[in-house]
Amino acid sequence: MSIVIRNGTLVSTTGASPADILVVGERVAAVASPESGLADAWESSADRAIDARGRYVLPGGIDAHTHLEMPFGGTFSSDTFETGTTAAAWGGTTTIIDFAVQPKGGSLLTTLERWQEKAAGKAVIDYGFHMIVSDVNDATLKEMDGCIDAGVKSFKMFMAYPGVFYATDGEILRAMHRARETGATIMMHAENGIAIDQLVAQALAAGHTDPVHHGLTRPAALEGEATHRAITLASVTGAPLYIVHLSAAEALAEVTAARDRGQNVFAETCPQYLFLSLDDLGRPGFEGAKYVASPPLRPKEHQAELWRGLRTNDLSMVSTDHCPFCFKEQKELGRGDFSKIPNGIPGIEHRMDLLHQGVVRGEISLPRWVEISSTTPARMFGLYPRKGTVAPGSDADIVVYDPTARQTISAKTHHMNVDYSAYEGMEITGRVETVLSRGQVVVDAGEFHGRAGHGSFLAREFCQYLV
Ligand SMILES: [Zn+2]
Repeated sequence: MSIVIRNGTLVSTTGASPADILVVGERVAAVASPESGLADAWESSADRAIDARGRYVLPGGIDAHTHLEMPFGGTFSSDTFETGTTAAAWGGTTTIIDFAVQPKGGSLLTTLERWQEKAAGKAVIDYGFHMIVSDVNDATLKEMDGCIDAGVKSFKMFMAYPGVFYATDGEILRAMHRARETGATIMMHAENGIAIDQLVAQALAAGHTDPVHHGLTRPAALEGEATHRAITLASVTGAPLYIVHLSAAEALAEVTAARDRGQNVFAETCPQYLFLSLDDLGRPGFEGAKYVASPPLRPKEHQAELWRGLRTNDLSMVSTDHCPFCFKEQKELGRGDFSKIPNGIPGIEHRMDLLHQGVVRGEISLPRWVEISSTTPARMFGLYPRKGTVAPGSDADIVVYDPTARQTISAKTHHMNVDYSAYEGMEITGRVETVLSRGQVVVDAGEFHGRAGHGSFLAREFCQYLV
């Protein structure tokens, strides 16, 4: 099978220029300038030619933070590996890295097997895993090596959720020492969960039960403090640190200072922190439950800081933290007690489109859009140059994007298995037209051609940014 993509504008981290692309089998075989005339010869023997005139041609998106079929408080996030990766493909994302969750007292390697079973035969696009370490002890520290050998080279820990995922500073220090010795990356949910739990208890005791109190009991200062502490522990141990879902200006200031000192500290933010705010969490009635995630949506003022961080590379990339729970029956578990609302916002389908609005609005450049949504995630998590670039030898994960099309986001038309959209009614400039996953057309002209089981597991290398 060979495909020629002609007349498009190939966008990479270094710019945008006219280019023709030849795909043979699962890989990119050649990239040529239109003047070379090579595409005529390619097309004469190709199985298919795609005319990308007036379109951008991008490396497929990489969403490095998803939670598919994740167990949470007696329920599961509502997207399976099949529905979640299908929605991702519709939105131009061709690789995800999902989180395997070690249960308390469980083994890391058994956990990894469980997640491999969940994804195998289901995923429509390629996938890798991070490992959530909820139990630090001699056995799990040793098992980190087995995960690394299996291609899982990043380990997430929590300074939030006491009694569930929470790790003490001492436990974090031990895991970081192990990461320093092996080259693995520690990923951190940085919020001071001990203090937050007190604020939550006080709010509930005072009769404050509405969803907005989820945000008010998790102040930005407690994200800033935890981020500072994580960075300090990383500097003491020398471990590389990656802050997940950074939402607050206070936390960004800590990351910026660490990076200015030359520390191996990186951070992602998520579309919800760039486009939604505490006002959404405060919507009347129980509507705000749709917007409950941790860290919480922040007051609008934080958004400009986050965009600045994306421009200056203090924020390296954008992932979704896609963790969908239906409004009916799942979010509703928290009626009358905001602390019981399952935490998570759906977004796997809309990351590329939402970030394109940053280009349209002049917040980020066109090459930066590709960098924060594809190339940096590939390098950050050891997938480059197989993923994250359209170049000879790379996997043919390619998106043809119409930058002038108009669309309106709605739960009525999205493909995620969740009964609401956090961006309902939002008008978007730009639209994914064609998506290739390892040389296979999975989305084309409004039709889905993907297949459960096409996606394969990606054994990853270490972070490619370390010096
Ligand atoms: Zn998450």
